[in-house]
Amino acid sequence: MNCGSDKVIYMDNNATTRIAPEVVDAMMPFLTDCYGNPSSMHTFGGMVGRAIEQARAQVADLLGADPEEIVFTSCGTESDSTAILSALQTYPENRHVITTRVEHPAVKNLCESLTQLTGHKHRVTRLMVDADGLLDMDSYKKALSDDTAIISIMWANNETGVIFPVEEMAAMARERGILFHTDAVQAVGKIPINMRENNIDFLSLSGHKLHAPKGVGVLYVRKGTPFVPFLNGGHQERGRRGGTENVASIIGLGRACELAGQSLEDENTRVKALRDKLEKGLLSTIPKSMLNGHPEKRLPNTSNISFEFVEGEAILLHMDRYNICASSGSACTSGSLEPSHVMRAMGVPFTAAHGSIRFSLSIYNTEEEVDLVLDKMPAIIANLRKLSPFWKEDE
Ligand SMILES: *Cc1c(COP(=O)(O)O)cnc(C)c1O
Repeated sequence: MNCGSDKVIYMDNNATTRIAPEVVDAMMPFLTDCYGNPSSMHTFGGMVGRAIEQARAQVADLLGADPEEIVFTSCGTESDSTAILSALQTYPENRHVITTRVEHPAVKNLCESLTQLTGHKHRVTRLMVDADGLLDMDSYKKALSDDTAIISIMWANNETGVIFPVEEMAAMARERGILFHTDAVQAVGKIPINMRENNIDFLSLSGHKLHAPKGVGVLYVRKGTPFVPFLNGGHQERGRRGGTENVASIIGLGRACELAGQSLEDENTRVKALRDKLEKGLLSTIPKSMLNGHPEKRLPNTSNISFEFVEGEAILLHMDRYNICASSGSACTSGSLEPSHVMRAMGVPFTAAHGSIRFSLSIYNTEEEVDLVLDKMPAIIANLRKLSPFWKEDE
């Protein structure tokens, strides 16, 4: 099938990324010749097992972790659920969970279900953010309680790119003996992470957000952290996650982590410069446009901009005519007309929240692409505003 990927200007990398060609190359033998089961006794399977251990070391390297701390899962969502549910089973007497108002649905909806399921009467504190999308550390400190079983706070927000001080928060949790989980799906590969220098107990990442395939993830579990598996079954992953390994994808994820380590600098210089050029250009040429999220405490690739008095969905449709891919709200919440929970938590005014567009770049974007988007966007917004009952020409 030809899906036209050679034509698209892809600025939706927080939704998913293209698989790096080097990753496809690394995976190929495991989709063809090397089909042995890594758990088998024979040499043919054992070779696959060794390749998985190499991938585990590559992931560990990117995180500054030990290979034994890496558990392969099926996705970021599974990693999030595993960490939170493990902590709740470790401390069944502790019924309190701390999280934020701006988590990805993978954490948000799990935490909401905890307060609803009969027999699972948990108390969930959902921390507020300010207009910049930042957390208040005093409220965080006050929320820590003797019966808190787990704190789950994302490292970087998928909609705005805003970065939370999770290392500082994990240190405070450690002092109180509370387990700390971070959903780092958007942070890994975009900012440096060194698990040897912090007190985070669990960390989630997902393959398809860093140029590996969809359907593979990792849960980092710090050595010595009590752990209850989510999937019980075979002894795979040292008994921490049953089920025959998704071998090819795991190999791909290992290679992707190696590449991410090598491109981290490019991400934080060239990609950031492209993002800044795009952002400054849009904000300066389009009236009544504004940035959502703190301007500095942010991932280098993400820009979330509101164009007041127009609908995000309509903007995306017009961008689509030029094959420009971006998002309004998050992919998981679009389809409903409610502004995203992240925009609402930040108190973005209704007329602006509806017209918010997330541009998320990657190492594969070019300056020509940024220039083309800067060329097309002003007319797209101006034309839509002519149709808007809320927009007055002289504004
Ligand atoms: C994409 C994403 C997830 C979910 O990962 P999947 O592998 O798609 O399940 C979780 N958290 C954040 C912040 C994400 O961006």
